[in-house]
Amino acid sequence: MVDLKGQYKQIKAEIDSAIITCVESAEFINGKLVQQFAGNLAKFTGAKHVIPCANGTDALQIAMMALNLKPIDEVIVPAFTYVATAEVIALLGLTPVWVDVNPDTFNIDCGKIEAAITPKTKAIVPVHLYGQCSDMEQIIAIADKHNIYVIEDTAQAIGAEFTFLDGGKKMAGTIGTIGCTSFFPSKNLGCYGDGGAMFTNDDYLGNYIKMIANHGQEKKYHHDTIGVNSRLDTLQAAILAVKLNYLTQYSEARSAAASVYDELLKEVNQLQIPVRNKQSTHVFHQYTLKVSDGKRDELKKHLEGKGIPTMIYYPIPMHLQKAYYSDKYPKGSFSIAESLTDCVLSLPMHTELSRETQEYIVNEIKSFYK
Ligand SMILES: *Cc1c(COP(=O)(O)O)cnc(C)c1O
Repeated sequence: MVDLKGQYKQIKAEIDSAIITCVESAEFINGKLVQQFAGNLAKFTGAKHVIPCANGTDALQIAMMALNLKPIDEVIVPAFTYVATAEVIALLGLTPVWVDVNPDTFNIDCGKIEAAITPKTKAIVPVHLYGQCSDMEQIIAIADKHNIYVIEDTAQAIGAEFTFLDGGKKMAGTIGTIGCTSFFPSKNLGCYGDGGAMFTNDDYLGNYIKMIANHGQEKKYHHDTIGVNSRLDTLQAAILAVKLNYLTQYSEARSAAASVYDELLKEVNQLQIPVRNKQSTHVFHQYTLKVSDGKRDELKKHLEGKGIPTMIYYPIPMHLQKAYYSDKYPKGSFSIAESLTDCVLSLPMHTELSRETQEYIVNEIKSFYK
């Protein structure tokens, strides 16, 4: 699905030297490189504050802590997403309120958000799934109207750019109140272990988030708020600082590979190729097809037999997961999310994908349908 070894080979000299420099400095925790990388990422994204942390799940949790969300508060989340988003809501004792997704973009269906808002709603968490932004223009308008926060989960969409109707452009993660991302190795900007970050343009929140991520202290051993221990290792920051310089190139490589898949697959009637949100660029964390003839699992098995890995992101919608099930949302509550779990299939997608490999993959898909 990914080729992290192939990617490393291309930048080996730079990465190795960054790692050695870090090890020789012995500044393993909170080294200068952590702040330097955060500064570079702020410049890249246009965010006023970038606060690194230990992983993307922590980023979501710290964001919710920084907004002082309290038990009984409700948080709106797409029913079709990765579990981390829902997990931290539940861990903080908040109530997740699911909303169905758009069948074409896979992102939260903005037409269904307002019906889910109650006096207890404090935040909406749009997840920019597979690499393109949710409809942030509409989400911000709804959030402003109801005076609620927006926490963007941009773990899969770092580098994607959203264009507002007035022509203004903003990067994923810098549009809402707080943006959260992950540097998990297979993410578009991945490190060699765990890592994450939060984005905000609000000075108060920027400082508060930093405190929470550091045991609730600004001054050492003076704990003004309940915090957590969530740091980005200096070694990971050193690696990320190198890879950030390639992020635009990596996004372009993914997008080019997506266009090749599009072109090769367009005449396969049983498949729907990814639909682009007109207001967002797509950085293709995943290239996800909809298999519309009910044969998704058979196709997956056929490809597996030919040595082609594929993945199902995600096989069960959030409201039907055992840990998150509530009688309030029985099967049938979110028909789009439920149908997507039966038909989505993600093909190999990474920065080192060659046209030859893609042709091999597509030929095997076509031979399945012959
Ligand atoms: C990867 C991911 C996360 C969590 O990131 P970790 O660094 O693995 O904790 C959260 N949300 C989404 C949508 C993700 O894809």
